Amino acid sequence: MNGAFVISLDFELYWGVRDSKSLEHYKENILGVWDMMPRLLDLLSEFNVKATFATVGLLSFESKEALIAAIPDKLPDYTHKAYNWYPDYLTQIGHSEEDDKIHFAPSLIKKIHDAGVHEICTHTFSHYYTLEAGASIESFNADIEAAKKRWHALGIPMNTIIFPRNQYNDEYLKACKEAGFIGFRGTEDSWLYKPMSRLKENSWRRFLRLIDSYWNISGLHCNDWDELLDSSGLYNIPASRFLRPYPSKLRFLEGLRLKRITDAMTYAAMAGKIYHLWWHPHNFGKDIQKNLNFLRAILEHQHTLYKIYGFESRTMNKCYSIINNYEQR
Ligand SMILES: [Zn+2]
Repeated sequence: MNGAFVISLDFELYWGVRDSKSLEHYKENILGVWDMMPRLLDLLSEFNVKATFATVGLLSFESKEALIAAIPDKLPDYTHKAYNWYPDYLTQIGHSEEDDKIHFAPSLIKKIHDAGVHEICTHTFSHYYTLEAGASIESFNADIEAAKKRWHALGIPMNTIIFPRNQYNDEYLKACKEAGFIGFRGTEDSWLYKPMSRLKENSWRRFLRLIDSYWNISGLHCNDWDELLDSSGLYNIPASRFLRPYPSKLRFLEGLRLKRITDAMTYAAMAGKIYHLWWHPHNFGKDIQKNLNFLRAILEHQHTLYKIYGFESRTMNKCYSIINNYEQR
């Protein structure tokens, strides 16, 4: 089988970082998504590249009233109070995307949907943290039930889940299988990327991950088609690399950062494996043109690999159907 190039984006705006980044410091990135997204969709379309957009359910509502009416019955009660978004945090949000472009984005979701080629899946309803104290299977089930209901109302199939902060374990994967999901994005196969609660995360691991995005210290993280089926019964399309935002202080290393990605893509294309690149739209919300230029260089490389090795762009959902058809032959 030919290799595949997979892109996934965790689309969350401020819901994904409200506990970790102040608006004062990060507003430009969040609001920049509104300018960046149409340009990103144009760039993907230029190279015929299809992406999977894992979207937070809370972003999708036309109004605050509709959002409040859709809140799940059972909510997590995180020990770390900054993770809780209900009820206090809701007093800080606006009425709709007209007056609040950091918590609402139904028109951007529509734009992605209207492109007709991308997969829109879930990043949970509320940006749910499965590995933080206070999370429970009951409230997680209620969260994804609310997400499913919302996607159903919008006419969007929901086969894939991408876990916020890549936090998952066997118990939550089992719950997802029972809820009808087909696949998820796992982490890279290295202790550097092993799912972990944010409170247990340490700066040493963070630092090594930064180094790893320039020099190969953890491997290429390309995956075989016949190893995608997880013990939970879900397909795991593991991440190969997080696409970091343009680093102005380390810009002299941009060649190395690009080579780290393109070398692994070349290997995946030649060996018939899957290479999976992921990031958040808000990572591209600042230095938009520089970030898009970097992505363009990656897409040009993929285009060359497609012509030589048939290394085609696939959504995560498409990967499941390819492997299913292959197994049925
Ligand atoms: Zn997220």
